[in-house]
Amino acid sequence: REAIPTVIIIGAGMSGISAAQRVSDAGIKDILILEATNRIGGRIHKTDFAGLSVELGANWVEGVDGKEVNPIWTMVNNNLKLKTFYSDYDNISSNTYKQIGGLYKKSVAQAAFNEGEELLEFGAKLSTELSSRKQEDISVLTSQRLKNHVPSTPIDMAIDYYNHDYEFAVPPRVTSLLNTEPLPTFTNFGEDLYFVADPRGYESVVHYVAKQFLKVNKAGQITDPRLKLNKSVIEIRQSRSGVIVKTEDGSVYRAGYVMVSASIGVLQTNLINFQPDLPTWKVMAIYQFDMSIYTKIFVKFPYKFWPSVTVTDDESRRIEQQPDCETKAEVMQVLRNMFGQNIPEATDILVPKWWSNKFYRGTFSNWPIGVTRYEYDQIRAPVGRIYFTGEHTSDQYNGYVHGAYLAGVDFKIKLLTVGEKKLKLTIWDTGVD
Ligand code: FAD
Repeated sequence: REAIPTVIIIGAGMSGISAAQRVSDAGIKDILILEATNRIGGRIHKTDFAGLSVELGANWVEGVDGKEVNPIWTMVNNNLKLKTFYSDYDNISSNTYKQIGGLYKKSVAQAAFNEGEELLEFGAKLSTELSSRKQEDISVLTSQRLKNHVPSTPIDMAIDYYNHDYEFAVPPRVTSLLNTEPLPTFTNFGEDLYFVADPRGYESVVHYVAKQFLKVNKAGQITDPRLKLNKSVIEIRQSRSGVIVKTEDGSVYRAGYVMVSASIGVLQTNLINFQPDLPTWKVMAIYQFDMSIYTKIFVKFPYKFWPSVTVTDDESRRIEQQPDCETKAEVMQVLRNMFGQNIPEATDILVPKWWSNKFYRGTFSNWPIGVTRYEYDQIRAPVGRIYFTGEHTSDQYNGYVHGAYLAGVDFKIKLLTVGEKKLKLTIWDTGVD
């Protein structure tokens, strides 16, 4: 009979793996990690397309060169020495295309860009004032309107898209001003962004963390029996004495505690059946938060003449539901308008489908207007023996790879034992009831 582990961790993305490392570092080695897919890394996932390595999920280390060091940057740049490129968005005024073809005049694009910057500064100032006066939250769109900004021209809308939708994958009307302006990622870790472009993939940061505490064979593959792949959890039953976790393939695992790292999009579905039901306060907090969708579309051409395509939100849902050949035809039409009828036909297309995938249901969480800090803290608060981690539980950095990592490591652990008997494990302790 197998020994009953102290903690089962559900999900082997950045957060599940960093939480497992934290638990292991605290001296609790009897852990079990159950991951639904056949790999670790979750929303950090590289694949090969058109003979190149491309990132289906996270691509940038966001927040570099600030007063604090982003721990993901240390792994990417110092430990793993992954190949990265600095993303110079200041240059945006020189490479913004018109829908009907040709570049915008630099001065026109620069004026729109500057206005966008002023709006962001105005929003950040307003947000600080509102919180110091303990006033209610407003949406980012409301703050734009207070500055009399109504994007009406295509270039205004493009800059607006770049400043908001491109970062949060939803339009400004959805996003909370108080909780996103200024954004702790950029104020604490710095404003620079680095694009990871290494054949080993961005996911090697997750492997790097995993290999700090899981057994590895000579070839560098993780062989630790405490990590089980292809184990989709369908039920978590807790009682006063412990938890029972069931997976789709009929396996049953017992443990003292469980830590769930599945995305907030997954928690908003009934993929995992909690027994007894999660309390109403928990369910409401989970449902009120948002899971955004950010879709990169990769297109292969016989030769390079243009960079990349991204869509978000409703467009992402629409694109995921139609055949890729229709998406390819749409992309071709837009590109022919922009670059002329003579450009070559795309020979292949790759559309990652994060929203349709039941283990993700979107790409990253976004703080919507109407959710208070108290409600956000409820999303990560434990319920009896069930603890929650994942980017959507990060104290300051929800939505990001570093948020996922820090959410996993930022908790206190106390295991009270008397002799051989484990009496009580406190995994998270921030004072929220
Ligand atoms: P996940 O990676 O979702 O890990 C959860 C794990 O749980 C998954 O492996 C999943 O398979 C598993 N799971 C789910 N349900 C079950 C179940 N029932 N049973 C067992 N296992 C289950 N961040 C950045 O910092 N920079 C970026 O440029 C960036 N761009 C992004 C672009 C895209 C397209 C996407 C998708 C994400 C992007 N992000 C970016 C966000 C970043 O990838 C995530 O915040 C982070 O990887 C989330 O890690 P996590 O461990 O919280 O969740």
